Amino acid sequence: MTTREMQDEILRLKQEHGICILAHAYQSHDIWEVADYVGDSFGLSQEAAKAPQDTILMCGVRFMAETVKILSPQKRVFLSHPDAGCPMADQAELELVLRLKEQYPDYTVAAYINTTAELKTICDVCVTSSSAVKILRAVENPNILFIPDCNLGDWVAKQLPDKQFRFMQGGCPTHVRMNIRNVEKARQAHPNAKLLVHPECHPSVTALADYVGSTTGILSYAKSSPEQEYIIGTENSIVQHLQFTCPDKRFYPLSLDCVCHNMKLTTLADVYRCVKEQSGEEIHLDADIIAGAKRCIDEMLRLGS
Ligand code: SF4
Repeated sequence: MTTREMQDEILRLKQEHGICILAHAYQSHDIWEVADYVGDSFGLSQEAAKAPQDTILMCGVRFMAETVKILSPQKRVFLSHPDAGCPMADQAELELVLRLKEQYPDYTVAAYINTTAELKTICDVCVTSSSAVKILRAVENPNILFIPDCNLGDWVAKQLPDKQFRFMQGGCPTHVRMNIRNVEKARQAHPNAKLLVHPECHPSVTALADYVGSTTGILSYAKSSPEQEYIIGTENSIVQHLQFTCPDKRFYPLSLDCVCHNMKLTTLADVYRCVKEQSGEEIHLDADIIAGAKRCIDEMLRLGS
């Protein structure tokens, strides 16, 4: 079966079985083309909650499928590949965060959306990379314990100098691979290009960027800006997607090494199998986990509104 034939079958089968396909922005372009929605993890969960379908297939990693389930507990939610986890989400262990809470009882615990559903139940508020500054500015408490990504936390803290931040040692193993040497080399090779990076990158990299923002932020910046060349400092599939979308512009990866192998576990053939057999790994969460994690997400929505 060719890629096009497989895509046509997926489109037919998802219609027949009433399946809504979500593709995270770091999925490959052939998966984007069969998805109902493409985007950042939290945006996808919100789209899934509004979608008419009762079955959702998340092509992404586990915490994203959990977030879909938290917002749509009545729907059946499937993860496209059972081994697709997020090493950053798995770094923050419940016991460790409970100990930190005991140590810093007067701190508001802010959890990046890239955390497990269970961990969200013991945190005070969630944030996304695009909403973190706005949400944490709106938190009344000046003391913030930010988990688990200390790079994103550092970037947010620099914009909120009136707040006192504490971090745990954690971060994205994909974004942390990019360094100052990569920036120097890329700037030399493409002197006219704008450097756009994700705040999960090391502070020494974000400090040199022309724009720092979420994946969605990077995509819209590159699409709407008049410049012709961009160095992209986030997962490399974004370079591919931008080149497809804006063929008249040029996009270069900041590092060839910035590939999330967990995101890349899902292939078009997995998506095909999932919609054909109505399979994948079904996400089950206890009602108290859903309620506890939803409280943390609802607080983000309240502060952001
Ligand atoms: S890119 Fe980083 S944060 Fe995103 S899924 Fe991969 S490891 Fe997790």
